[in-house]
Amino acid sequence: MKNNMVCIVCPRGCTLIVERKEKNIEVKGNGCNRGKEYAISEITDPKRILTTTLLIKNASISVIPVVTSSPISKNAIKRIMDDLNSIVVEAPIKCGQVIVENIQNTGANIVASCDVERIS
Ligand code: SF4
Repeated sequence: MKNNMVCIVCPRGCTLIVERKEKNIEVKGNGCNRGKEYAISEITDPKRILTTTLLIKNASISVIPVVTSSPISKNAIKRIMDDLNSIVVEAPIKCGQVIVENIQNTGANIVASCDVERIS
């Protein structure tokens, strides 16, 4: 089965033609090896940076934006969101502060995307 996809690793945006042949995955159209790695990852275990918000206490805002420190498997997103939905952080928070280490054993941390001052 053939799949066409656009490589998003760099601005060149090569069109990748990916064909699965039994246990092998053949990639054509890639301008460099990073495109081949991207295509194989997209076919076998696609990964994404997760951005979401967490509830926060003692702040002038009710939620704080957070992001994973590295791309995580799309298969792990539901489990991670279930974990994050039960977390309430407390101000003050610094941008880049790790809120959860190694979330769901993905190797990625959940980090704050902005500073939030304490109000009380
Ligand atoms: S295959 Fe290489 S050159 Fe082409 S878009 Fe991907 S990273 Fe860029």
